[in-house]
Amino acid sequence: MAEPELPYARPHWDAEEAAALMTTLESGFWTNGGQVLRFEEELGRLTGAPTVTVSSGTSAVFALLHALGRSVSGPKLLVSPALNFAAAPASAKLLGWDVALCDVIADDLTVCPASLAELLDRVHLDYARIVVLPVHYAGHSADMAALSALCERYGADLVEDACHAIGGTYDGTLPVGSWLTSVAAYFSFHPTKPVAAGEGGAVSTTDPALLRELRALRNHNMSPVDAHTGDHDPWPYSIPAPGLNLRLSEFNAAVGAVQAGRAEESRLERARLAARYHERLDGLPFVRAVPGQRRAGSAHHLFPVVFDVEGLGMSKKDLLDTFFSRRIRCQVHYTPLHRLPAFADIGPRLTTSFTTVDTAFPGLVSLPLWRGMTDDDCDRVADAVAGIVHGSTHARGRA
Ligand SMILES: *Cc1c(COP(=O)(O)O)cnc(C)c1O
Repeated sequence: MAEPELPYARPHWDAEEAAALMTTLESGFWTNGGQVLRFEEELGRLTGAPTVTVSSGTSAVFALLHALGRSVSGPKLLVSPALNFAAAPASAKLLGWDVALCDVIADDLTVCPASLAELLDRVHLDYARIVVLPVHYAGHSADMAALSALCERYGADLVEDACHAIGGTYDGTLPVGSWLTSVAAYFSFHPTKPVAAGEGGAVSTTDPALLRELRALRNHNMSPVDAHTGDHDPWPYSIPAPGLNLRLSEFNAAVGAVQAGRAEESRLERARLAARYHERLDGLPFVRAVPGQRRAGSAHHLFPVVFDVEGLGMSKKDLLDTFFSRRIRCQVHYTPLHRLPAFADIGPRLTTSFTTVDTAFPGLVSLPLWRGMTDDDCDRVADAVAGIVHGSTHARGRA
């Protein structure tokens, strides 16, 4: 019998999610109901800060950048690591912001403070508002202390892309989402993420005005107060500024709330699998785990590794095909932004050298990691990695 196919991620659910969905169906409240409130409460516990839900991680960063740029008359800039998903830089561009890209650190592929410093030093006087966007890549926190110091020096604001890091901590104790000098952190509940809701996103912030603004914005900026009379009548409403529908449905929230309640259980299981990968892979030639050492508090969303494709004489396609021939479906996080046509027009003034990301990318592959994977599944993947690094004739010649 063929071995089961191993995806790189898979949502984990049981009867509790099914019951929550049925309850929501039967309640007749399919939007704007109690499930969203319940989910937001659970998320507040996980992030350590008040948290508002929206329809996706992309909606979250779009709403945030809109809110942060709305009253700024001068030019605005978003600074992202080049190794990031397109959601934030695309939102920035659609809102008329400039986008700058900098390099990452080799060990954990989070934003490189030195590269960021070089960029901010060059351009900080050109902009009325600068948002620096660390990505907690794979669930491991970026170097928030170093980034905070830089943002303070150059008058920039910190917004964390925590889409990989729900339920994680910065240092083993402080929950991701509650960093003191960040304006906000945002999350995604896409089915591959550690807390899955089908679709969904959230922003955590300790700024009450920003929280109010996001709550209004996700609901068309509709206010129950009649603009002319000031009355709180049941039907009249006012819309003081254009808003959107960025609401999360009650179905997504019902699933998300159950998942959020189990986030730590699920994180510990992924941490155990990640430790098993480390045991099997550490010391192998031509491949390294990202980061090289296990990290306390990581959300363990992904288990990326970097193969030495030159040493192995293999392309990324060869690597992915080899895994696939063993019914293992890896994934790549991400095509660096400067290699995408959508961001290819970012000029030299708003970019740094990309030596680290360009060196890692050709061999960068995310191995399967999800709650419910067995030790045997994990060993099957590790065997495939060992087969690749020991099997290549090119590699044998050089090892
Ligand atoms: C998943 C993800 C997003 C987008 O979230 P959606 O919910 O899919 O819109 C943005 N940034 C990063 C780093 C992500 O992993």
